Amino acid sequence: MSRLIVISNRVAVPKARGAAGAQGGLAGALNAALKKHGGIWFGWSGQECEEFTGNINLQRHEGVTTATVDLGHQDIEEYYNGYANSTLWPLFHFRLDLTQYERETGKGYERVNERFAESVAPLVDRDDLVWVHDYHLLPLGARLRERGLTNRMGFFLHTPWPPTRLFVSLPYHERLVRTMLEYDLIGFQTDEWLESFCHYCRKELGAEVDEETGRIAFDGRVTHAKAYPIGIDYEHLMEQADSGEARQAGQRLLSSTRRRTAMIGVDRLDYSKGLPERLDGISRFFDHHPQRVRDVVFIQIAPPSREDVESYQRIRATLEQKAGQINGARSEVDLVPIRYVNKGHSLAELCGFYRAAKIGLVTPLRDGMNLVAKEYVAAQDPEDPGVLILSRFAGAARQLTDAVLVNPHSPDDVAQAIQMALDMPLEERKARWEAMIETVREDNVQRWTELFTGDLAAIGQDD
Ligand code: UDP
Repeated sequence: MSRLIVISNRVAVPKARGAAGAQGGLAGALNAALKKHGGIWFGWSGQECEEFTGNINLQRHEGVTTATVDLGHQDIEEYYNGYANSTLWPLFHFRLDLTQYERETGKGYERVNERFAESVAPLVDRDDLVWVHDYHLLPLGARLRERGLTNRMGFFLHTPWPPTRLFVSLPYHERLVRTMLEYDLIGFQTDEWLESFCHYCRKELGAEVDEETGRIAFDGRVTHAKAYPIGIDYEHLMEQADSGEARQAGQRLLSSTRRRTAMIGVDRLDYSKGLPERLDGISRFFDHHPQRVRDVVFIQIAPPSREDVESYQRIRATLEQKAGQINGARSEVDLVPIRYVNKGHSLAELCGFYRAAKIGLVTPLRDGMNLVAKEYVAAQDPEDPGVLILSRFAGAARQLTDAVLVNPHSPDDVAQAIQMALDMPLEERKARWEAMIETVREDNVQRWTELFTGDLAAIGQDD
């Protein structure tokens, strides 16, 4: 079996996983793949240095070798806060209104991709599989090819891929996608994002695209594109859900809510997660059923994220104001309808909360996949499962079709879903949960890594 070289913006050592939630669903998935194949995980250390030196810090943690480099202040500003998180992230989440196009940050993005390529290339052996992750590193494969690497190289995009009509608003969009076609395999979370990408390649580049097989022929090269919906580490989650820490967390939540039904939301504080819209839906529910303020409490866990980016500062302020407004209008001396928590929690604690909450609210405006939805399902009591309310616009909605699916932009739709979930008979809750748990358990992260690395390894064998 070939070694695996994983390259992503940040590297998360196994121990750090779940600690603050800042790294999202990616960390656990990649550790699992690396433990199996051996190899190296390369990326930015998260540390800032005066001037980029290219010095690599090699470490070994629980069977995984990590190689990290520090970045300079200007690199972080332009590449990470700038192009990745102020241009590509909003654009890929269909938010043209928040997308900033600055030539300087684009240059910084190119420069850091160049630096990553220069640093990691000497660590790659001839037979290694190279697996690059996410929107921070779209051009990395092309930069590695320029350095003579002929390895099989795959890329996985964890975010959505936007419709062509939106994507073409990006200056130099064509150049960016041409670099992506230097990868041998490109993975997307869902068929929808895959189709948008294929559409772009056909319409804008004039590539020859076979939609059936995902074969994209362009400029004398062939790239394969396919959907690989990411899953959770089901067994690990079940261990966490069985721990004393989870039980304690669940107890804490239950004893504090007394006889009220707890609804929970768990999201990085990001505008793509639809948090103000979710509060609008809850507020609408209380408008329609003022007496039910005594029956339900909503707990939103929202650890801050990307705090140096202005749009994130704004969403935080909006949310604080909205939560304050609703609580001001609806609270009684002995109860507060919304608990808004800016602290991150461990996976074990989250499992305790998920199980104690009879409704899980996952209502992003757009999301590549959304692992919280899957975690919520996995953590339920099979004899008395809670109800998942899920946005149609999350990648997860393609698999979890037995959730109560909502349009997160419509407060009435969300309010109605809450009412339906509160009143749902046990039999229906069980039937929906049983349908969902199967895909959560089977289409897990181990399967995801096996499918992707298996397909990558097979490339070239029968072409
Ligand atoms: N998470 C966490 N602690 C928190 C909040 C979130 O560990 O306090 C984890 C959560 O369990 C999930 C991940 O962060 O695994 C979020 O992944 P998701 O795909 O839902 O969204 P992303 O943040 O990657 O956009």
